[in-house]
Amino acid sequence: MPTIDLCGSEVQKQKYLPSLAEFKTLGCWALTEPDYGSDASSLRTAATKVPGGWHLDGQKRWIGNSTFADMLIILARNADTNQLNGFIVKKGAPGLKATKIENKIGLRMVQNGDIVLNKVFVPEEDRLPGINSFKDINKVFAMSRVMVAWQPIGISMGVFDMCHRYLKERKQFGAPLAAFQLNQEKLVRMLGNIQAMVLVGWRLCKLYESGKMTSGHSSLGKAWTSRKAREVVSLGRELLGGNGILADFLVAKAFCDLEPIFSYEGTYDINSLVTGREITGVASFKPAMLAKSRL
Ligand SMILES: Cc1cc2nc3c(=O)[nH]c(=O)nc-3n(C[C@H](O)[C@H](O)[C@H](O)COP(=O)(O)OP(=O)(O)OC[C@H]3O[C@@H](n4cnc5c(N)ncnc54)[C@H](O)[C@@H]3O)c2cc1C
Repeated sequence: MPTIDLCGSEVQKQKYLPSLAEFKTLGCWALTEPDYGSDASSLRTAATKVPGGWHLDGQKRWIGNSTFADMLIILARNADTNQLNGFIVKKGAPGLKATKIENKIGLRMVQNGDIVLNKVFVPEEDRLPGINSFKDINKVFAMSRVMVAWQPIGISMGVFDMCHRYLKERKQFGAPLAAFQLNQEKLVRMLGNIQAMVLVGWRLCKLYESGKMTSGHSSLGKAWTSRKAREVVSLGRELLGGNGILADFLVAKAFCDLEPIFSYEGTYDINSLVTGREITGVASFKPAMLAKSRL
């Protein structure tokens, strides 16, 4: 939705946003490729101009909902300009194939897919006019990272809640686990992290609302909340002892669900580098001996 909202034409917004908002239409967003993850700005999926529209050829990887989405936003490289463009591809388009990635240990409720595009025809009206380079994609990231920054916060709150209850119910040495000072310290550390994460999430939203939020702000928020949440779920897993590794007690599930969040929407490292570039003026995505970054 954010991509069409930020980069779509008025006609596209009218056509797609209402049904997406009501979940009558399901979408997905395809940037990552098998050989271009963090280095997504170098992606190779090609968009070639043909009469009446475009042909898309290439592969995508990890695309959430792609196996059943009604519409797929595909980011591809314009063969004429060498810049990135965005396209709306409909479910069942000839030449489009999406296969579910198996054996994930986290976020198992989301189906992620490998996509193959073989001369998939997209009519001109389904090209997104607002995506003409990776800079335009970064505008989408700036907004989506605000949303993703809240996911580790919710997961951490759930883990705290589970642990708080568990420590009061389970007894060892004749006393509830909650009575042990070391366990209390861990609970308090978790709570402190959560309070700080909520404030960072709140501040991000305020900056966004006032139109002052930068890419560096949202990347910092996403990277930092996912790092702090890693500590929370790790402490939570520890507090449950052996039961902390059983999915039945949910903390282990949260532990596993956080890992992909740490790595998607830009990994912790890449988001740190986005903010690092903003505060120093120096881009360090590529080793110094290589050419200037296009991110
Ligand atoms: C569950 C899940 C859902 C996803 N959903 C989508 C989706 O819907 N749409 C989509 O387009 N993509 C999606 N992705 C892809 C996701 O955005 C990528 O996995 C992510 O960008 C990292 O790319 P990669 O996995 O290829 O890791 P790599 O880029 O291979 O990185 C491996 C490691 O090297 C580090 N690294 C890489 N480059 C640098 C650098 N310059 N400096 C320092 N460290 C570096 C990374 O931080 C990481 O730790 C999803 C991924 C997952 C796991």
